Parts: sequence; structure tokens; C-alpha cells
Amino acid sequence: MNAGRRGDGEPGTGGASLCSGDILITGLRLTPLFLTFKEPYHWAGRVDHGSPVVLVEVETDAGIVGIGESVSSLAAEITTAALRVVEPLVLGQPIHDVARLVHEARHLGTFNHMPWFADFVLAGFEMALWDAIGKAAGQPVYRLLGGAVRDEVDYFGFVQGDTTEELVEDARDLAAAGFGVIYLKVGRGDEADVRNTAAVREVIGGRRLRVDPNCAWSVPDAIRMIRALEPCDIDWVEQPTTLLSVTALRQVREAVHVPIAADQAVLTANDVYDFVRQRACDAICLSPHEAGGLLAFKKAAAIAEAAGIPICLHGQSVSGITDAAQHHLGLSTPNLTDGNQIMHQLLVEDLVASPALDPVAGKLGPIEGSGLGVELDRDAVARAAEAYAKGVRS
Ligand SMILES: [Mg+2]
Repeated sequence: MNAGRRGDGEPGTGGASLCSGDILITGLRLTPLFLTFKEPYHWAGRVDHGSPVVLVEVETDAGIVGIGESVSSLAAEITTAALRVVEPLVLGQPIHDVARLVHEARHLGTFNHMPWFADFVLAGFEMALWDAIGKAAGQPVYRLLGGAVRDEVDYFGFVQGDTTEELVEDARDLAAAGFGVIYLKVGRGDEADVRNTAAVREVIGGRRLRVDPNCAWSVPDAIRMIRALEPCDIDWVEQPTTLLSVTALRQVREAVHVPIAADQAVLTANDVYDFVRQRACDAICLSPHEAGGLLAFKKAAAIAEAAGIPICLHGQSVSGITDAAQHHLGLSTPNLTDGNQIMHQLLVEDLVASPALDPVAGKLGPIEGSGLGVELDRDAVARAAEAYAKGVRS
């Protein structure tokens, strides 16, 4: 810990006053990992077998180590290289200066011209800061973000499989396990989509059913397909059209009777503002990686709240580290929907040894440890690092 003064205190100019008792960043430990799925992950014409991420550990002069995770779907080296550029900026800085550090890092060099990339990279660092702050305070992160507004977060049952028979079997199991919302990937061909959706609807009874084509459809295709799926009583269709157009989503929403959720098209608070102003969606799926951190997520969620639009936690291909971070957001975000997304259950092994992050009947209560409240399984981390080092990428 340190005390002293530096800089001029202006946000975004590299200056801030140090306080007595500040906990200072002494280093970033960055570990590229490959997370392997239990079974092939089918979505919108793609099949993935796993995903690269970067474990971000923020070391401090108090001996506290904050843990975070940056998603890195292209290559972890890109993320680690970018964070190494950021590292000199944050060394010696207080862990509590989250907003200033992220602001300054986000405006470093060409990050200015790659805001989405910057957000995805920096989110793991920002997540680790919150973990460290919580550990220092002896408080779970959700209590640092305003406190819990609900006792538990509701998650969806994520149907996995390739054939209709496999999907039906999994959907039946998820419904029997008590998930109230069932979520199915579509965008896998019109005939297969109609067949799979109808078959899943049949075995889940009155459970709510959401489908996600992951941007696979044009505007006319989306309108045609959503009308074709409407008899299956669809709770919402997630991001049917290109992520690059608010107009496309609005056109679809105005033409169909099924609610529309925005996902890939809405990443930041700015996007949330645009989409709710243009009445382009009924709900917004959002993650701290997309928004640029937990704090940025809260700001984006607040804009949606002002418009009466619910936020749904959106999972990329991540471990329980991110799922835990998102759970803290879910506990503390007033306008959260039900049927949120988690991903760690799809992995051969999670990086988190405790606590258990598996919903019971779709519900997961508070995580009460300090910070994110997770203990890493260091053997699992080592195996994931080894997989990445061996060149496993997708
Ligand atoms: Mg989605």
C-alpha cells in the first residue's frame, strides 16, 4: 500500500490523487486458456468445440490478487498483447480507481478507433479490479454495485445437440430439471429450424421458449421465419438480423407479433440508447465484456431501465469466472429479465472450484464470498493453459 500524490486529478489525463491506504496494482498476470466444450456447440451454421479466453490476475501491493476473464474468440495472443500495452498505464495505480483506469486505457493509442475490441479486452481487467476491491472490503461484488435487489437470478435451460432427436432429449431433461425458460439455437436452415422448434415445444409443455438465430436472417427471411415459428408460442426471438443495423431489427419488430430481443447489435450504453429510442427491441441481452466492464454494464442497464426495457445476461463462451461476475450484476440490476444465460455448464471442466454455480430449478442465489467469491481450480486452469499452448483454438 502507498500514500502520496501525483498528477493533476483530471479524469482521462493520467492523473489522480493517491490516498493513504490505497491498494496499488503491481502487475498483471495474463494466462491464455482454451476452454473445451463437453459436446460440439451448434449455432447459426457454425460448430465450435471450445473457446479461447485470457485469465487476468491483477496483483497488488497488499498481496490481494483480483481475478477476471477476458473473452478472446479470435486468438488469446491479441488480447494479452493489448493488455501488455495497457499495463504500464495501470501499474502503481489504486485498484479503486476503476472508472478512471478504464477510461484512460480505453483511450490509449488506437483503442480509440476500436472501441468494441477495447471493451472486450479491458472487461477482464476491470472484472479483476472489482474482485480485488471486494476482497479488500470483505464484501461480495454485488454489494459494491448497489446491493442485491433480488434473492436469486433465474437462468435458462440451454438446449444442446445436433439432430432433432438430440435436441428433444436435452430439452426434455432441462424442462424436467425445472428451468422455466428454454433456449434453442436456430438459424440452422429453415426446415430444420421449424422442425427443431416444434419438436422442442412439444416436450417442454408450458415452459417459455426462446429462439436465437444469431444474426443469420435477412429482414424478409426473419419476418417469414418468425411467422412460421409463431405457432410454437415463442417467448422472444433473439437478434434475428445483422448486428450492424438498428433499422433491420426495428423493421422485423414492426412486422411480427413475437417479441424481439437485441443481442449482438447492442454492446454499449450508446447502443442501448439508440435501440430504445428507436423502439427496435423488447429486451436487450448484454454482457460486461460487450459493455466494457461491470460498471459500464450497470450504466447501460440503467438506460434500458429508463425506457422500460429489461436486460438479459448474455453469455459468451466463458468459464464460471465470468458467470460469477455476471451473477453479481444479475443480483444487483433492477431491470433484469428471467431466463438469463450462463455458459460454464457446457465446459468439460470449469475453472471455478467453488462455489457451485449450477442453478437449481433455474435459480441461483447470492454468492457470499468476498469479491467475485470464486476459488479457482488451479489444475483445471493449468490444463486449459496447456490446451491453448498446444495450439487448440476452436
Ligand atoms: Mg444471442
